[in-house]
Amino acid sequence: MYELVSRQVQTWPEEERWTPPEHSLGYSSLGVNPLSPQRVRVEMRPEPEAAPFRLYYLTFPHIEVPHAFSTRRGGVSVGPYRGLNIGLTTDDSLAAVEANRARFTAASGLPLTPVLAMVHGVEVVRVDGHGDGLILGDACITDKPGQSMMITTADCVPIIFYDPQRPAVGLAHAGWRGTVERIAKATVEAMQRQFGSDPAQLRVGVGPSIGPCSFEVGEDVAAKFTFAFSGSLWGQEIVLQDGKGQGRGCTVDLWLANLIALYEAGVKAENICLSRLCSACRDDYFYSYRRDRQVTGRMAAAVLLPQKS
Ligand SMILES: [Zn+2]
Repeated sequence: MYELVSRQVQTWPEEERWTPPEHSLGYSSLGVNPLSPQRVRVEMRPEPEAAPFRLYYLTFPHIEVPHAFSTRRGGVSVGPYRGLNIGLTTDDSLAAVEANRARFTAASGLPLTPVLAMVHGVEVVRVDGHGDGLILGDACITDKPGQSMMITTADCVPIIFYDPQRPAVGLAHAGWRGTVERIAKATVEAMQRQFGSDPAQLRVGVGPSIGPCSFEVGEDVAAKFTFAFSGSLWGQEIVLQDGKGQGRGCTVDLWLANLIALYEAGVKAENICLSRLCSACRDDYFYSYRRDRQVTGRMAAAVLLPQKS
């Protein structure tokens, strides 16, 4: 066992985050201004002197319920899974993954259950006492006090939703297919329908995931994005033709696509925080399915709706 004595909190340095190119109208028009950085908090537990490991996770200050995005730092896994691999479906040692999960829960206070297992669509599941089970879906929402939820990712875009009025929370797992189909918008609409949430009051955080700097795609995938967002303001900025693959191929901006979906659903730009941290660029902090050619660990995104006080 390890004792948690205190924690250190810092803001992720702005120069280490991806900045939209100057010619990008999409980000600035959606209110994500690279010159006025939105904060992404890095918490480290416990203090380095107090234990043989340092566990880092990320939180968003405007999401005022317990939540965290894990990083790979602070875990016991080795080899390609080096660090805090949370993924039970990888070929990593089960004992190591269980030790990592216990560390994350001890540090963040967040149970890692129930797990949402992605089906690559726009299935939003209302979670209400699922216990430790597995939920099939692409997003989960709850208004049940004491309910936790989690997803695991390694490039896919984790999105957290918080409605302070109901109160209620949501978690979406936006892979490229879910992003094309606007899972972020579907999650907001489900919270509206099920909980009466007002999109204008929702606080949203977009966690570490593969960025526009790294997500090269083939023409078929690019065409799906072009088609799906052709009618959207700034939709033409999602597919970038100047991919870094030696002049070949193009890149897709999953972050902008999800921001547009949130914007279309009525979420206000000032209530969205985009981490702008790319899983593929930062192998010191994140696992990346794409970069590591599928043999890699998983990060957790977890949230807990507290009991009413
Ligand atoms: Zn990148």
